Amino acid sequence: MSEPRLRAKELDAADGLAAQRAEFLLDEGGGGSGGEAVYLDGNSLGALPAAVPGRVEDVVRRQWGELRIRSWTEEGWWTAPERIGDRIAPLVGAAAGQIVVGDSTSVNVFKAVVGAVRLARSADTAAGAAGPARDEIVVDATTFPTDGYIAESAARMTGCTLRPVPPSGIPDALGDRTAAVLLNHVDYRTGRLHDLPALTAAVHAAGAYVVWDLCHSAGALPVGLDEHGVDLAVGCTYKYLNGGPGAPAYLYVRAELQDRFDSPLPGWNSHAEPFGMRPEYAPAPGALRGRVGTPDILSMLALEAALDVWDGGVTIEAVRAKSLALTDFFLECVEAYVPEGRVECLTPGPHGERGSQIALRCPDAGDVMKRLIERGVVGDFRHPDVLRFGFTPLYVGFADVERAARVLAEVLAEVLAEPGT
Ligand SMILES: *Cc1c(COP(=O)(O)O)cnc(C)c1O
Repeated sequence: MSEPRLRAKELDAADGLAAQRAEFLLDEGGGGSGGEAVYLDGNSLGALPAAVPGRVEDVVRRQWGELRIRSWTEEGWWTAPERIGDRIAPLVGAAAGQIVVGDSTSVNVFKAVVGAVRLARSADTAAGAAGPARDEIVVDATTFPTDGYIAESAARMTGCTLRPVPPSGIPDALGDRTAAVLLNHVDYRTGRLHDLPALTAAVHAAGAYVVWDLCHSAGALPVGLDEHGVDLAVGCTYKYLNGGPGAPAYLYVRAELQDRFDSPLPGWNSHAEPFGMRPEYAPAPGALRGRVGTPDILSMLALEAALDVWDGGVTIEAVRAKSLALTDFFLECVEAYVPEGRVECLTPGPHGERGSQIALRCPDAGDVMKRLIERGVVGDFRHPDVLRFGFTPLYVGFADVERAARVLAEVLAEVLAEPGT
């Protein structure tokens, strides 16, 4: 057995989270590709937790089919957005009562960015600030596209200028014109982890409000929203939280800001008295204020069942430790198997700057990923030349990592050997 294969065996034997894999339905022996797949795309769509199919069946057949409308109260449908928010809260370092689940990440980015601009302006007004009104929104120039598109529209609607700035340049771009700053905790392409505590402090020093997008960090590493004084945050639940395709996203509004949070989408679900059916709007207190319309109950309760995998003592710190061990080991195996210079790693080496994925650049990345998937190693390709491998510590083991790197080396050699590719 090769040296990396022996190492993988040792690492798997010592893995305190190894038993969590049984909480998921993975294709052991029966994968679509005819064998057991190595699934390294949990940063795009998390695998299916074993508790979900039965729960969804119950929600559809009994709660909807038999109890029908009674389920809004008797099965807790109405309060699901806050209840499930409170289950996500400990994973992102938030006390209860600050997270509400619903809508997509894109929609929550809109609520949060417009809400942040309004918070900044109302704070200045309350303080009797002299200078010009804050009229700039700063956005991470390397952001996932939807965040940039929404921020641009939010800027136009609030009379702000949008300033796309690379994350390293953010502190220098802030000033007394800055109203809101929208940042990604982990870059979706490169897997770079940004310095949330330092950037949050810099935004606050400028008197502005920060919105963090946690899509690629929640469920993979500690976030510390309360500890670091984050104002607003959003994230999706179908990546490292395994909520299922299109599972609802969430919105965090820091407790001290909730009374001043003025949602640009004040639907009836966020009303203080939703069944009062009043023509005038009066916002509900607390996290509820982030709700809009009727929640997407089927997806939301699938997510609630998916969150069961975090019960029974799984800590985000243990998940982070294993995530770093997995990505370190993957880099070690790539170095052992892949000829030098064939791929370039875009993900930073230092642990403090690394999320839970490894991004490798190579010229024929699209073709390489297609062949990897055919051989049961499932990552993804990001335009124009990036191979992404996501590592979900709850169900990925070290033998998977070794196999992925070995098959990658085989595929790379094969593509190189073929004339004209
Ligand atoms: C995955 C992801 C999204 C997805 O937004 P949707 O509205 O769910 O499609 C948004 N932002 C970032 C940074 C993401 O990684």
